Amino acid sequence: MRKIAVLGAGKMGAGIAQVASQGGYSVILRDLQMGLVNVGLQTIENNLDKEIKKGNIEIPQKQQIMGRIRGTTDLAELSDVDLVVEAVVENIAIKKQIFAELDNICAPHTLLATNTSSLSITEIASVTKNPERVLGMHFFNPVPSVKLVELVKGIETTDEIICKAKSFVTNIDKKHVVVKKDSPGFLVNRLLVPYLNEAIFIYAEGIASKEDIDTAMKLGAGLPQGPLELADIIGLDTLYSEVLALYNEFKDPKYRPHPLLSTMVRGGYIGRKSGKGFYNYSD
Ligand code: NAD
Repeated sequence: MRKIAVLGAGKMGAGIAQVASQGGYSVILRDLQMGLVNVGLQTIENNLDKEIKKGNIEIPQKQQIMGRIRGTTDLAELSDVDLVVEAVVENIAIKKQIFAELDNICAPHTLLATNTSSLSITEIASVTKNPERVLGMHFFNPVPSVKLVELVKGIETTDEIICKAKSFVTNIDKKHVVVKKDSPGFLVNRLLVPYLNEAIFIYAEGIASKEDIDTAMKLGAGLPQGPLELADIIGLDTLYSEVLALYNEFKDPKYRPHPLLSTMVRGGYIGRKSGKGFYNYSD
């Protein structure tokens, strides 16, 4: 594998393009308009400038990394890539349309990966003629600094495809885990999301103050952040849709979101990005 393509130059796509180029791959970064591609390229440049300031890389390295990434709006340019990582908006209809197009455009050996957080890999693969080459490649935000990538098998994904994906993940200096069955929330969110939701139940029931809930998990369980602090970082709107995705899929009441979460989201208390969530960030 030498050449890869990333679809979507947003928050995740830019990060994936950056780490792939840092791993020595030639990267095509594709979005719908050149303005959007350029925003992604600028994000990467800003990230690399920060690495230069920290002394982690030097200017020539930055130039090499940027030099390996080419922006485009044209899907036809993907005909000779070895791997596509799709990181467009989280919308099943859009992803299915893109995978149907990729199936026609890309060479038979190309791995087709989606970075979806919550959609079914098997459903996305269902629109292709070769669903065995489709997999989930779930990166975490911010991509350059979070080490983990979940590799998710759809019903038809072969071990050979997962094996090739593992090599790619190793070459870009990340660690993989394999999710052997296409299942809602994969591994990390299946564990993390109900835990964060439970912290909201505890807070809403008045069992402890928000500060004490966070302190308990930092000092008692050795976690770097408390659950309510982390919920504010993730964004309560994102968390709400993730809890709902688990609840809707399993129809199990253990995944029901606490009404405080939906009320806060409706009121604009969505965490750090809005300046207010469980904590206040306005000053
Ligand atoms: P984003 O909104 O920042 O970026 C999405 C980009 O996709 C936009 O630039 C948009 O113009 C582009 N796009 C839309 N339709 C397109 C198309 N047909 N072809 C090419 N580009 C198209 O979104 P994001 O936060 O980067 O999320 C992207 C994907 O990654 C989603 O599936 C999301 O669930 C997943 N994800 C997000 C996070 C996160 O924390 N943000 C974490 C893990 C996975």
